[in-house]
Amino acid sequence: MAELCPCGSTRAYDECCGPFHRGAEPPTPETLMRSRFAAFAKRDFAYVWKTLHADHAEKRDGASRDAWLTEIREGTKLLRYKKLRVLDVSEGPDAEGYHHVLFHVLVMRHRQDVSFAEDSRFLHDGEGWRYVAGTLLRNRELPKPIEALTFDTFWKAATR
Ligand SMILES: [Zn+2]
Repeated sequence: MAELCPCGSTRAYDECCGPFHRGAEPPTPETLMRSRFAAFAKRDFAYVWKTLHADHAEKRDGASRDAWLTEIREGTKLLRYKKLRVLDVSEGPDAEGYHHVLFHVLVMRHRQDVSFAEDSRFLHDGEGWRYVAGTLLRNRELPKPIEALTFDTFWKAATR
């Protein structure tokens, strides 16, 4: 049996996020987002770095790739990225040109649930879609049920 993609698409990894991890460019902000989650799940942090936009805070501040990779490997060592749900996707760019994807990830640190939802902002840099920044809310801050979250209800909770 082919390995299922960690992004939850129910497709084979080799036909889903695998090609992006091997160098193809995801065609949309959502496919980029899914492939970044799959990279976290597979601990392919070189891909996570590659898909940060030049305007991402740490890249903009001149973080070195090697130092960043060491730090994220350390920082996520105890985390298990178990499940992704894409909840809402913007139809086009907002007033500042960002494309948005709202998603929830189930993350465990040992037996502690450290899951969160995030509104991620993406830009195309001429080569491909890249992650710029996100706003994150922990499970306890989220309106329930989580699968019914929209940009609207997420931001109502975020600005409460
Ligand atoms: Zn996938």
